[in-house]
Amino acid sequence: MPVSDRTVLLIRSEFESCILTHFKDLGLDPALLKALDQRGYQTPTPIQTAAIPELLKGSDLLGIAQTGTGKTAAFALPILDRLSKLKGRPDRGTCRALILSPTRELAAQIGESFRTYGKFLRVSQATVFGGVSISSQIRAVGQGVDIVVATPGRLVDLIDRRVLSLAKVEVLVLDEVDQMLDLGFIHAIRKITGLLPAKRQNLFFSATMPKEIAGLAAALLRDPVCVEITPRATTVERVNQSIIHVETRNKLALLLNLLEQNAMPRTLVFTRTKHGADKVVKGLIQKRIETAAIHGNKSQSQRERALASFKSSRLRVLVATDIAARGIDIDGVSHVVNYDLPFVPDSYVHRIGRTARAGASGEAVAFCDHEERPLLRDIERTIRQKIPVTQHAMSIATPDPGERSGAAQGHHRPHQNQPSWRKKPGQKPQGGARGKWRPKQQQRQGGGQPR
Ligand code: AMP
Repeated sequence: MPVSDRTVLLIRSEFESCILTHFKDLGLDPALLKALDQRGYQTPTPIQTAAIPELLKGSDLLGIAQTGTGKTAAFALPILDRLSKLKGRPDRGTCRALILSPTRELAAQIGESFRTYGKFLRVSQATVFGGVSISSQIRAVGQGVDIVVATPGRLVDLIDRRVLSLAKVEVLVLDEVDQMLDLGFIHAIRKITGLLPAKRQNLFFSATMPKEIAGLAAALLRDPVCVEITPRATTVERVNQSIIHVETRNKLALLLNLLEQNAMPRTLVFTRTKHGADKVVKGLIQKRIETAAIHGNKSQSQRERALASFKSSRLRVLVATDIAARGIDIDGVSHVVNYDLPFVPDSYVHRIGRTARAGASGEAVAFCDHEERPLLRDIERTIRQKIPVTQHAMSIATPDPGERSGAAQGHHRPHQNQPSWRKKPGQKPQGGARGKWRPKQQQRQGGGQPR
């Protein structure tokens, strides 16, 4: 990397001041400006400022950016601008712009963004994903649409049924490519890109850029503009992170304790498995904490209901697996709890990025049991930071005091704000300053282990 040395824009902070730029300076159609104004967006985010003028010129783009940076509008606005200027309707069974998303939730959200920004334009669109009936999707794409937003599996299904041809695609967007590869969509992507016309505009977004993804980008993009919003796989700067070392069997009690003792109004809890998510939900509901889960075994309507209730604050806690939570856009998530550490370090970055969105600050706490310590080391290596350890009555000692005291000596990023579970009035931090560890015996004497 970079794939191209034509333009490399390095923007380190997502919402760094771009106050001198206004949407009207970017060359967008007045109908789009009107929709943005109605949506209440005053100034473009850095990725929008950097990408939109280039995309309007027809350049390919490589965006290294996570959700939360405003990347959806960065590609949706120029696509709408371009398509609104085309004459006539798309031919039956064809589309002019194709957006591929790894998950249904992200696809639905992208579709919603296109509807919001394109409300004053005559541009048609369809969103297609699995888990719901295909017949209405067949009707929608069969008549020909300007924009198709799709997950790869359902798109291949529609192509195989000869409902949709990609021969007229002018713009291709691959969103969250790292996640698409994690989910095993590489073959579907190869098949889909093989069916596209050679002459087209390509947009490629990924939060991380390991070798395999860089190779795919190099194969697909032609002389792209490269916009990097955060340094590769670096944790969102505004998130106050902490880690609590805890026995596996005490994790639920610890979560309940944090929820009881702290103001955590909108908390997203991540578990590694669907079964784990259901267990957490059961445990919290028993204690009358309004909770629901979203994961692969839930139907699309169950997921949508859970998300809507969480967004409207009817649920205080949403428990999710990585795949289900990918791309979901919920404003005002106050806390992210990593109930289990993810196997893939990049997932940690994605998870904590669910809080601290659109310029806000947020807090993330991770529970780490004995077996997860290697995963924690991988995460810290990836984010190039030591995550500060918070001591709690249920903490267990860390086995590597040398490493941990390194964190205490300031090798981690200092935080301006203490996470709220460390600053509850009258509740002294257990076991001293963060970054210190207590020998097991001392901790047991403290009577912290619940029976
Ligand atoms: P995304 O990275 O596309 O998932 O967007 C993250 C969040 O930022 C979404 O809630 C968007 O609606 C919001 N957003 C996008 N662009 C802007 C903007 N220019 N000003 C304020 N909020 C924005």
